[in-house]
Amino acid sequence: CGIVGYIGFNQASDFLLDGMAKLEYRGYDSAGIAVIGPENAIKIQKKVGRLANLEAIVKADPNEGTVGIGHTRWATHGRPSDMNAHPHASEDGKFAVVHNGIIENYMPLKEELIEKGYHFKSETDTEVVAHLLEDMYDGDFVGTVRRMLARVDGAYALEIICADEPDKIICTKKENPLVIGLGKGENFVASDIPAIINYTRDTYILSDGEMAIVTRDTVSVFDREGNPVDKEVFHVNWNA
Ligand code: GLU
Repeated sequence: CGIVGYIGFNQASDFLLDGMAKLEYRGYDSAGIAVIGPENAIKIQKKVGRLANLEAIVKADPNEGTVGIGHTRWATHGRPSDMNAHPHASEDGKFAVVHNGIIENYMPLKEELIEKGYHFKSETDTEVVAHLLEDMYDGDFVGTVRRMLARVDGAYALEIICADEPDKIICTKKENPLVIGLGKGENFVASDIPAIINYTRDTYILSDGEMAIVTRDTVSVFDREGNPVDKEVFHVNWNA
């Protein structure tokens, strides 16, 4: 399983599909991408099976935009299927989420959200994150993600995009790996270095509990309490 993200001046889907191919060694049963396109609409394409299945869909119906997230899934909750593949979206379409790991307390959260009238499209633990974001949203993307994280237990590498703030990707991790690749006018997110090494060798390796706000020109990292973290650049000097 793996996650990737791109924000820059190129078509996001090019990096996303390439990065996901580089993460294939981690194993997966389905794959998907979400890209912020014209009028900031988030377009999701996802498919069970080989990455080639997703590539064919994207080739036939290009997912245009310069900000996007991608995911290769190793199912833990819900069988491998198109609907259970990530990304998962909020019902209002404002948020898209990819997740590696397990949301341990998804059951009570799911019950609470269903009670409130949210409709689940998948059998995954991950989908609670998308609905929680919609439910907790107060117009502040970063603050909403922080408050959402306080409600979920488990292990995760997470990436989230929001149609209202199309110039950033928020990512965070706990017990699952997450690396940020530092480019020029573009930045990359991935589970592991092989996905980004052909694009940049300067990286931030996120620690548990850290959150990064990634824009085209900046990467700001915060600790669990929301204090800025002065990350050291890890320069990769080996070849993938
Ligand atoms: N628990 C999530 C799911 O089953 C994520 C699995 C993964 O790490 O790929 O959809």
